[in-house]
Amino acid sequence: MKSARRSPRCIRCRAPAVVHVRQHHAHFCGACFPEFFERQLERAIRKENMFGREDEVLVAVSGGKDSLALWEALARLGYRTTGLHLELGIGEYSVASREKTEAFARARGLRLLTVRLADEEAAVPDLARATRRPPCAACGLAKRHFFDAVALEHGFRVLATGHNLDDEAARLLGNVLRWQVHYLAKQAPVLEATPERFVRKVKPLYRTSEYETAAYAFLRRIDYIVDECPNARGATQLLYKDALNRIEAAAPGSKLSFVQEFHKVARPLFERLAEADAASGTCAVCGLPSWGETCAFCALRARARRREGETLPTVDAPGRA
Ligand SMILES: [Zn+2]
Ligand SMILES: [Zn+2]
Repeated sequence: MKSARRSPRCIRCRAPAVVHVRQHHAHFCGACFPEFFERQLERAIRKENMFGREDEVLVAVSGGKDSLALWEALARLGYRTTGLHLELGIGEYSVASREKTEAFARARGLRLLTVRLADEEAAVPDLARATRRPPCAACGLAKRHFFDAVALEHGFRVLATGHNLDDEAARLLGNVLRWQVHYLAKQAPVLEATPERFVRKVKPLYRTSEYETAAYAFLRRIDYIVDECPNARGATQLLYKDALNRIEAAAPGSKLSFVQEFHKVARPLFERLAEADAASGTCAVCGLPSWGETCAFCALRARARRREGETLPTVDAPGRA
């Protein structure tokens, strides 16, 4: 595969390169790239004022490459971190994800909190059955709920997630295609803790491509779960990623500018539009901020419980109208 012509060299040490970061027009060797990755991460954290060395950061870890790469890099950079893993209850996939996450934490002596959603009457398949929406919607709702609930319970003020540039670009495209003003207003790399009881949420990898996190995970020998969530197959998110990958191949840098310019130029406008009706109350069940009397998660869990109670299937289920 090597061409006889000049093979690319690492921009830092001139050794043969193994990683090509197109959006930065840079090649790296296997030793220099992880250091570059960590420095980029540190720069993003500082530039966006995400957190400091004194903060205890709760890192949401799924067992996939992005969140484990994030945790690895934060720990190496000397940040104080605790992992949070939600076992979603999606069959073998969830069991394997938990095992990978636990093995990662154990090998590095890092503290990990695990919540089994089944123990909280919130296993994703049960929640999903109570709605007519795709399981990913119920899953997202449950994740947001437990991220906040666990952070509050343990006194964390910052929660970091492993969303990368590809995730952010795909989500942005989805929100733009349907002009979801409220989602657009809230799609920020740093979401401040407002109202008071929401934990601050940050996405330190929001400018880092999936290719880069994969390369980093590989070079740092991180053993992560390779399988995609079985629910994600056919999810619209994958359609958006595919479309963006095609654009990126023809016009490198498109994803980064799409996301970057959104934050610079457009998001402030959506924030102003959405400001008028921010959540002001608290949920009567869990006490977290909510638009209605009960938050969307608690309403869904109540619906899932009611379904559990329906032991005998009736011939003609009464319509809910
Ligand atoms: Zn090098
Ligand atoms: Zn609630």
